[in-house]
Amino acid sequence: MSDALLRRDLLRWYGRAKRDLPWRRNSTPYRVWVSEIMLQQTTVAAVTPKYEAFLRRFPSLASLANSKEDEVLKHWAGLGYYSRARNLRRAALAVVEGHGGEFPSGFDAVLELPGVGRYTAGAILSIAFRKPYPLVDGNVIRVFSRLFGLKGRAKDPAFVRKMWPLAERLVPADNPGDWNQALMELGATVCTPDSPACGACPVAKHCVAFKKGLQDQLPLPEVGRKPVPVAWTCLWIEKNGKVLLWRRSGKERLLKNLWGLPEASRLAAAPGKVLASTTHSITHHALTVELREASLNGAPPPEAKWVPRGEIRGRLVSSLWLKLLKRR
Ligand code: SF4
Repeated sequence: MSDALLRRDLLRWYGRAKRDLPWRRNSTPYRVWVSEIMLQQTTVAAVTPKYEAFLRRFPSLASLANSKEDEVLKHWAGLGYYSRARNLRRAALAVVEGHGGEFPSGFDAVLELPGVGRYTAGAILSIAFRKPYPLVDGNVIRVFSRLFGLKGRAKDPAFVRKMWPLAERLVPADNPGDWNQALMELGATVCTPDSPACGACPVAKHCVAFKKGLQDQLPLPEVGRKPVPVAWTCLWIEKNGKVLLWRRSGKERLLKNLWGLPEASRLAAAPGKVLASTTHSITHHALTVELREASLNGAPPPEAKWVPRGEIRGRLVSSLWLKLLKRR
């Protein structure tokens, strides 16, 4: 895999597919810092309205430093983990007292601020100051684990430590903020935990897990996490040399936006004899899948499509289907 081509493909995709989020407009150090603290352990959907309201009340670092703690906590309501809000205010005071009110641009000075760790320092320096500092968060760990075919558990500190040199190697000197955000955006919207949408992935051709059919198995599931059992009955419906495939919607729990064999519960077709069965793990889900013969009466629904039998392997990206078809 070439680092340069990987960067090119991911950055091009980010340029056209990135979500329009308020902290991506006018990325000043203060705005980026507040967003990064809010986004710790909290979803983008929950943060977005709170972020805008918080910035209306505290539009600058000076206004935050001049505020009372109670007032800051009041505007943090609903986001939880209130120590983040206390640290934010303490850090604003530290910037006023120690840096004359100017947000520091040196790595060590940023890291000294209350509530700022290596990830947050990397985010602020790369996005707001355009300095080539790497970052590693849960999304980046998952993307790297799959992209480079690295076996490990996302919360294992030794595995996480392995990610930093990779992140450091890849972060470009000329566009570090976009690169770091592109990696996280890929993890949040395409290379998601339960259902990587490899068919729509801009870096699939660089991805080791995709090439080996391991995308559903990496990173390894956390120890002690009880697998969630899932049972599917899928249908093999063949007519005139074509097989009926089903495009799963973005709302599915597993294998979102990917082509698969239709589940019996989605079609008006009575399942017949069993052709094959298999078990398969997708992150922390333990699937038992049975494939049954069936025939369809009438036209297929809009989510389904007849595909020539010889072409179905090219459409069925998840290794689950390939495993099932091998047993057929
Ligand atoms: S090809 Fe699939 S597993 Fe690989 S990075 Fe893309 S979405 Fe993730």
